[in-house]
Amino acid sequence: MRPALLCLLTLLPVFSSCKRLESKLERLARLAGLTTNEVATRQPTPGADAPLTAEQQELEARVRNSTVFETAAPEVISAKEPSFELNKSSVVAILGYHDFRERGGSPMIISASKFQEQMKALKDSGIPVIPLSDVIAWRKGQKNIPEDAIVITMDDGWEGVYTHAFPVLKQYGFPFTVYLYKKYVNIGGRSLTWMQVREMMKHGCEIGSHSVSHESLRQRKNRTESEHQLWLLSELKDSKEFIEKNLGISCSSFAYPYGIFDDSIMALGLQAGYESLVTVNSQKVTWDSPLGKLGRYIIHGENDTNFKLATSFRGRGDVSNNHFVTANAKDSAGNPLISLSPAPDEIITDRRPIIIAGLTRMPPILPETIKMRLAGFGLVPAQYDSSTQEVRYQIPANLRREDCAVTLSFKQALDKPDEVINWRFKIDLYAAYLPIMPPKAEETDTTPTLARPEASSKQTRQ
Ligand SMILES: [Zn+2]
Repeated sequence: MRPALLCLLTLLPVFSSCKRLESKLERLARLAGLTTNEVATRQPTPGADAPLTAEQQELEARVRNSTVFETAAPEVISAKEPSFELNKSSVVAILGYHDFRERGGSPMIISASKFQEQMKALKDSGIPVIPLSDVIAWRKGQKNIPEDAIVITMDDGWEGVYTHAFPVLKQYGFPFTVYLYKKYVNIGGRSLTWMQVREMMKHGCEIGSHSVSHESLRQRKNRTESEHQLWLLSELKDSKEFIEKNLGISCSSFAYPYGIFDDSIMALGLQAGYESLVTVNSQKVTWDSPLGKLGRYIIHGENDTNFKLATSFRGRGDVSNNHFVTANAKDSAGNPLISLSPAPDEIITDRRPIIIAGLTRMPPILPETIKMRLAGFGLVPAQYDSSTQEVRYQIPANLRREDCAVTLSFKQALDKPDEVINWRFKIDLYAAYLPIMPPKAEETDTTPTLARPEASSKQTRQ
């Protein structure tokens, strides 16, 4: 591959007017492992001599410091392109439920209808619900997770998990984690049976430990210090082994009974082999959250307060305040309400596309309330064209991640909630690195930073 590349690079002077070809070849060269010196002299510096406004300068600085975009500065070019770029800006809200019954009635019991309503709000919002194991894999640097995400957990192993929550979760395809404690599994009454647990595990349920006895881990009772340490160890380890033996899985997460713990208990839990331990502190999980005390929003019966806090991300309203417009929403005649480019889930090869949201079928909007956010980057200065009713944003530099999530919000009246559209598209990074055919003779592309969505080759995979 490498000799062929060098051969292609030698052709560059022939097409010296085509910066696009040049930069693609450079990236291909980097993929093939050529040194930065070999390619640095060819690195384009688009728009370097044009005066920039303060806003443009600020944006340029953010682009330079971002991991979302590839910068053009030779010193930061790595010899090899990473297979993916870890997105450390993701934020996760972990919800914590307990018992589910036909009717609520206590802070630890939520009614089936209220739970259904909350899950529907999540589904409508488009905020992804992901398994806890994905969050841990992300923290290990093994994979990316969505920019904003929800994890659903439930403690104690009540039968209501199976009879009331599971059908809803299965219907929406939401993964979840159940924390079981050894003394309350498969013992009749209102405890879950192993058979119910195994069935749920076939549909996205992960199992964690919630101790042996469900006693507060800080309560000494009449135990001496050494007795207490042994007891603690058994609460942490016996419950883990119990689940692993009975279900043939690795049990890697622990929920502190009553959320009670201290630093030494946390250290012991990590020593016992848990990769994550969850609390009841209403905090979101970020890249910096200690894995021994991940925050959770406990949902107290019919009270929505914590659900609203949990589902409100980065200053946006919660799922019940915003009005989420699904990216494929249709009007009464069956026409798409919004036309999006790149389309939701589309895989494109242009690493610098123009993002376009066509709103001609939407009721009139207030242009000054338009906000567009890119995952991992934040607010971007999208433009609204009132004649075409399009919101547009030209990606200012090559995207270096394979996944790009966009959030567009606006209001239709100041006293109305935000309309929010979430969608994501993908870049086929490998295809994007392939050399393109030489352009036709009349095409002289000297402005590689701007406008070429029509020319981008696109493909959609199902
Ligand atoms: Zn509990």
